[in-house]
Amino acid sequence: MNAINKVVILGGGTAGWMAAAALAKVLGHLTVELVESEQIGTVGVGEATIPTLLFFNRLLGIDEVDLLRETQATFKLGIAFENWRRPGSDYFHGFGSTGKDFWAAGFHNFWRRGIEEGMACSFGDYCLEVQAARAGRFSHEGGINYAYHIDASRYGQYLCKLAQRNGVKRTEGRVTRVEQQPQTGDIVALELADGSRVQGDLFIDCSGFRGLLIEQTLACGYEDWSHWLPCDRAVAIASDVLPDAPPYTRAIAHDSGWRWQIPLRERTGNGLVYASHHLSDDEAAARLLSELDGEAHGEPRYIRFTTGRRRQQWYKNCVAIGLSAGFIEPLESTSIHLIQQNILKLIKLFPSDVILSQDRDEFNRHADFDYEQILDFIVLHYHLTERDDSAFWRHCASMEVPASLHERIALFAESGRFFVRNNELFVDSWFQVMIGQGLVPKRYHRVVAQMPVPELEQFLSSIRRTINAKVEAMPAHSFYLERLLA
Ligand code: FAD
Repeated sequence: MNAINKVVILGGGTAGWMAAAALAKVLGHLTVELVESEQIGTVGVGEATIPTLLFFNRLLGIDEVDLLRETQATFKLGIAFENWRRPGSDYFHGFGSTGKDFWAAGFHNFWRRGIEEGMACSFGDYCLEVQAARAGRFSHEGGINYAYHIDASRYGQYLCKLAQRNGVKRTEGRVTRVEQQPQTGDIVALELADGSRVQGDLFIDCSGFRGLLIEQTLACGYEDWSHWLPCDRAVAIASDVLPDAPPYTRAIAHDSGWRWQIPLRERTGNGLVYASHHLSDDEAAARLLSELDGEAHGEPRYIRFTTGRRRQQWYKNCVAIGLSAGFIEPLESTSIHLIQQNILKLIKLFPSDVILSQDRDEFNRHADFDYEQILDFIVLHYHLTERDDSAFWRHCASMEVPASLHERIALFAESGRFFVRNNELFVDSWFQVMIGQGLVPKRYHRVVAQMPVPELEQFLSSIRRTINAKVEAMPAHSFYLERLLA
């Protein structure tokens, strides 16, 4: 076994450059070389993020204003889900928590009784981020939780410069052959089209959907999740910038999937995600183009995908990060987060000298958990619907879902109870989505039942008053951005 001194990253998409920048920053003594092919290019989508990216950027020492300027970014407070429960309905998934929890009973219990007593408003009215998003306002003040809408290719370029400043070597070229150790199967080197050879000790596969190392070379296998997530294609196009860019993503359900609208500073990102079984590529593109707010820029781009994950994301001396590791769905913008998770896990478990199988197993266990908990959360959006206006939605509503999700929905429906598993990414989000999609628990906690009605009323209205006052004090999102970047 070789001591790990040199890391080779294959792929210069978001995953590759995030990995390169982080390794160079944290493990500066390593030699890191990244191979990418401009001829092959990157997937070229992925503009919405979640708040965990702020932690990653901080780790890299990135200045927020500089990043916003360089990546055309806007702030994102959550996602507006339109037509998901039924056509014409909408709700918000905001990044913050809703209301105030009591240790024995989450806020939704108080809200649930408030509904019964005829005194509560919509669930989202008790969430600062949702209310600020609805009002189109933003400010760093007041402890708001936020993420970014970002031009992903510019983010990649930004990290590329940062990584190279920290010593990462960039090699342009197309990998045509992968050399393996005959006895162990470990990867030894990548051979490029010009005949040159890039040798390494540990290889990070960031080659995108093709998984050139983890799959095409090491044949790790892929767990296909399309029976739970039937969308398998997307068509994407940019359009004119939106006036007063809203601080949220729009996810608008249609009869065979959904459409995204992501406001950046100089353009708007749009895409239609669909199940090819129910909608043809031409119909999808025609629908996307007809629903754009503003003029389209360029031609629509088609992307095919199979939702699922690689059976092992660290196998032999190869770690898969990004689309080569798996792809769930862009619905909750979790891919860049999963990239970051694999990078952080790899750094935590980075071999002191040689690769230990225990480290690899631990990495894979955590990676499985990271993917599975997000899977459940995404499937929830599709499954918990009252839509029966198309074969697609009838399938989603009636399909069998993962057992863990089934149990969660059943428990919440009966009792309003929800138990957090390990270190879950989404917690409050579950309440927002379940309630938003129409699942109101039958019962609430006894602690809440004991509360005198005037006290409950005072409790609920004081939360709303505080939130409304904070939102009132915030400037408009686009005005705030302009001032910040001036
Ligand atoms: P890629 O961008 O495909 O990069 C692959 C790299 O490998 C390229 O540099 C390529 O040149 C290189 N390469 C491949 N083969 C070779 C070879 N033989 N030789 C040399 N180089 C090679 N994520 C989010 O977080 N938010 C979103 O809103 C979001 N929306 C999405 C919407 C859709 C429809 C899809 C499909 C994905 C979305 N994602 C989103 C996911 C996001 O796009 C990816 O996670 C992210 O772009 C990372 O991609 P990657 O770096 O793994 O792969």
